[in-house]
Amino acid sequence: MDRRSFIKSIGLGAVATSAPLTATTAKAASSVYKIAIVGGGFAGASIAKYLKLWGQNQVEVTLLDANTSHVSCILSNLVLNDQKTLTNLTFPLSNTASKNHFIFKQGKVTAIDRTNKQVLATAKNSGFTVDYDKLILAPGIDFIFPNGMNPSLPDLSTPIPHAWQAGAQTTNLRDQLKKLPSDGSAKVIMTIPKMPYRCPPGPYERACLIADYLKTRKRGGSLIVFDANPGIMLSLSILILLLLNITQTLSNTSLTNQFSRS
Ligand SMILES: Cc1cc2nc3c(=O)[nH]c(=O)nc-3n(C[C@H](O)[C@H](O)[C@H](O)COP(=O)(O)OP(=O)(O)OC[C@H]3O[C@@H](n4cnc5c(N)ncnc54)[C@H](O)[C@@H]3O)c2cc1C
Repeated sequence: MDRRSFIKSIGLGAVATSAPLTATTAKAASSVYKIAIVGGGFAGASIAKYLKLWGQNQVEVTLLDANTSHVSCILSNLVLNDQKTLTNLTFPLSNTASKNHFIFKQGKVTAIDRTNKQVLATAKNSGFTVDYDKLILAPGIDFIFPNGMNPSLPDLSTPIPHAWQAGAQTTNLRDQLKKLPSDGSAKVIMTIPKMPYRCPPGPYERACLIADYLKTRKRGGSLIVFDANPGIMLSLSILILLLLNITQTLSNTSLTNQFSRS
């Protein structure tokens, strides 16, 4: 979709077809089209960037996120074997906003007033509102804790980290792997939830990394994977990883895939 079609599709068609989108044709501040976006992950931040790029001075784009920075899940498995650090994967949203000319407000969105077209948010115990003409919700999805995992334990010390959201749990999992015995007796058990979940190949990528870690840093060991799915959720990337990496890894690391069909 080109810029003109895009602007039309969000309701600025008349403006977009009657005037080029340059600073000199900026509308009066009062008539600037206000777009609020909830969620500064890859989805929300990408939409904010491109709406501002394509809408220029005709749009005011405000991105809201509960946190000041986004910690990327993508590549976070590489923290486990020290190829990346969490610092490498942490992106302050104010930097993303200033680079891409949109507004960032830190605050947890608690309500949406559709009648008055306002988003209600709280930050540091005080509330604020953001007006909008169009609202985009990109809050991602949350983790559902299975039986046996206590959601109230601190991320840095919980004994069974899911490391599903990059952050303290990723550090916790990395530290647990570091503490495993180095004599080939290490045993790791991992579970994969039933689809749908975020990033289908993610758990298999993690399994490959852990198996490789055991082989290269712990003189072998075993990794047992309990997968709630009827088959491996393969993608091209994981297939390549499997072909290049795990085939060698398996030579002295036993990898067992147990399928539980519930
Ligand atoms: C270990 C792992 C590895 C992965 N690897 C890859 C990969 O290699 N390639 C790939 O494409 N994908 C990968 N993924 C998947 C990818 O991370 C997700 O698809 C992506 O993060 C989803 O982006 P999102 O913007 O929809 O949601 P999120 O990244 O979850 O962002 C949502 C944002 O909304 C904010 N938010 C939520 N509720 C509120 C509220 N009430 N008020 C204000 N803000 C709120 C949150 O703070 C968050 O910043 C991986 C995932 C994991 C877990």
